[in-house]
Amino acid sequence: MSQPEYIGRFAPSPTGPLHLGSLATALGSWLDARMHQGRWLVRIEDIDTERCKPEWSEEILACLKAHGLVWHDEPWVQSRRHAAYQAALSKLAEQGATYPCACTRKDLEQANQHRAPGQHRIYPGTCRHGMPHGKHARTVRFICPNQAVHWHDHRRGLNTDHLPSTSGDFVLVRGDGHWAYHLAVVVDDLQSGVNHIVRGEDLADTTARQVAVWQALGGKFLPRYWHLPVILAEDGQKLSKQTGAAALEHKQALGNLNKVWTHFGLPPMQARSVEEWLALAIQRWPQYRAAEASKTRGPGLV
Ligand code: GLU
Repeated sequence: MSQPEYIGRFAPSPTGPLHLGSLATALGSWLDARMHQGRWLVRIEDIDTERCKPEWSEEILACLKAHGLVWHDEPWVQSRRHAAYQAALSKLAEQGATYPCACTRKDLEQANQHRAPGQHRIYPGTCRHGMPHGKHARTVRFICPNQAVHWHDHRRGLNTDHLPSTSGDFVLVRGDGHWAYHLAVVVDDLQSGVNHIVRGEDLADTTARQVAVWQALGGKFLPRYWHLPVILAEDGQKLSKQTGAAALEHKQALGNLNKVWTHFGLPPMQARSVEEWLALAIQRWPQYRAAEASKTRGPGLV
């Protein structure tokens, strides 16, 4: 049987311009798709309309182009996909996999008071069998599976997560009415046929929840995951818009690509143009990919 076509994606949230950290994810996922002669989709994750701005979406797309990272098809735009998220939510509700929840953030903090800072915050299931009398629904939660969730990461190997002890039932529709990331991301990946997810390691913690939603929505084959190491700022914090990471200068594209390359542990490459640089990078990527996989091979695929 022939292998299904590789479909990868880059899914930026337009809350600001791209920085070196996001370029690393974009480049890694682009190279991986190119190496497999696959497709590379771009998805603008703008459901949080208060934090996201159309200007930033434009800037992100222009910045990707300036770095030679050209995508297939039209970009997917989450703010235009409410009907798809609604249909998925209804499907989950029909299966009895969701429930309305009245709990506030404060309720959640109180329930987790005994947990040290940095420990997982777990939803105690207060509204699972009905909301307390007189309370109104604020969010919709997903009933997380009792059995362990397994997924495979290219670099980290096999991951096993028991959601009742790491998150508990989690939110699909937020208190402010927006779709939660875990619902939108899974619906979009499923419907766009994504089968390879290469993204930053900071999101590895969210994967088990997405795998659970993916399976509940009937996704047959899980995507293959590869969580790339994130770029840290000098103070050890993840580079991010929130920590004031510098916006990428389009004119410095070659220098930016080489900085990301160094972050991957690879020596900078001399090239006269972005296209030439990317052609060299495509040649090197299979070796890097193989070396990363051999670092922490888990007990194998499940
Ligand atoms: N939109 C997310 C971010 O910008 C990435 C989501 C994903 O790759 O799954 O951090």
